[in-house]
Amino acid sequence: MSFMREKVETQIKPMAEMARAGMVPHGRLLAGGLDIVADFYDETFKVIDERNKKLCWYEFCLTPELFLAMGIHPFLGESHPSMMSFAQPDVCWKYVDAAENQGVPTELCVLDKFMYGALVCDEMPAADFIVTASAPCDSSRIGYQMYEQLTGLPVYRLDAPAEDTPEAHKYYAGEIHKLIGFLEEQSGTRFDIDRLREVCEESNRATETLGEILELRRARPCPQAGVVSFGCYMAATNSFGIPELTSYLEFLRDDAIAMVKQGKGALSEEKHRVLWYYTPVVYDFELQEWLGNTLGAISVLDVLSGYLRQEPIDTKDLDTMLLALAQRGLESTMSRIRVRSTTLTERFLRDYADFTADCVIFPGPVGCKHVWGWLSLLREVCKQKGIPICAFDLDWMDSRVRSSDSVRSQIEEFFATVMN
Ligand code: SF4
Repeated sequence: MSFMREKVETQIKPMAEMARAGMVPHGRLLAGGLDIVADFYDETFKVIDERNKKLCWYEFCLTPELFLAMGIHPFLGESHPSMMSFAQPDVCWKYVDAAENQGVPTELCVLDKFMYGALVCDEMPAADFIVTASAPCDSSRIGYQMYEQLTGLPVYRLDAPAEDTPEAHKYYAGEIHKLIGFLEEQSGTRFDIDRLREVCEESNRATETLGEILELRRARPCPQAGVVSFGCYMAATNSFGIPELTSYLEFLRDDAIAMVKQGKGALSEEKHRVLWYYTPVVYDFELQEWLGNTLGAISVLDVLSGYLRQEPIDTKDLDTMLLALAQRGLESTMSRIRVRSTTLTERFLRDYADFTADCVIFPGPVGCKHVWGWLSLLREVCKQKGIPICAFDLDWMDSRVRSSDSVRSQIEEFFATVMN
């Protein structure tokens, strides 16, 4: 991981300092999140160098609490490509090309191509084992078979239901229960329910605070910029259950409370409230700032951070904890997209109403085929309900598919023709 080691030292840590010094827009609010990401990578490098604990590469449909409770270092593979390309868009090209040059199909999702290329170039962490699930998408199902072949690592697969019913949650809790045996075997550590309870309680403090932040984002004007929400999401993915995450989120919440009390918003004049309903545009770090400055529009909620609205984990006993972890895992990030389109549309309409949005931006990744199926149906619903939606295709990490200029002009045209 030589590239990432250097990036953490020469880019992420200095950027955190610049943010703290106010040299980056909204820097004061972003610095703590960058610190958490840098600390997470420092810990990853330490584990790789010292092998003092096991490193688990895990996928969507799981959250880190169970791994942390068993003394295992959790590494969400899918968060790594975004961090590697953060503020360096062309980094993606090298790894995507490396994968495609080895015969990986071009139409696979960029996340899977990137991870495959990073594996080939020795830029994925040297994991001890992999834990994956049967959702959310075809692309990752193929991806994890490729990683298994390439690494020869033990892989544990959970069967993730496509429903969001109490029965489905209970079934998936059973899947996580079975996973415990595999983790014990791989790590040599006995599962300790009290340690899981401690981690879940810390995680609850973080999710409760996140819930308050999201509630405060419903205010008009919205107190914090869209980029702060994305930053929160990046900081949180690998860190639920870690006290530093909770402290950072409490800081953000207190800032949002103060802003709302003073009637202040992140924008000097908030003209539009956008529901940003799929992926960020990773290669355009300043897009959200541009949206505010040029169009007076703010992303009040994005679909990835939307999953951070979580019920607390009931820590009464193992069954209640596993049930809550199952619900969290199935809701996490893109796992949310595994359900049927009627459920997705219900959630979309709830989010649109809850955050009093007045339009939707839907960047649809070319490799994410099932989302395009839903989008066609969603467009019909938006037409019936008079919800303005700007949907376009892109590869959210690879700027060669659609450039940042093209994304911006598409959005600009939407605001000029539809929103005015
Ligand atoms: S963007 Fe779509 S295809 Fe890619 S990993 Fe996420 S759900 Fe799968």
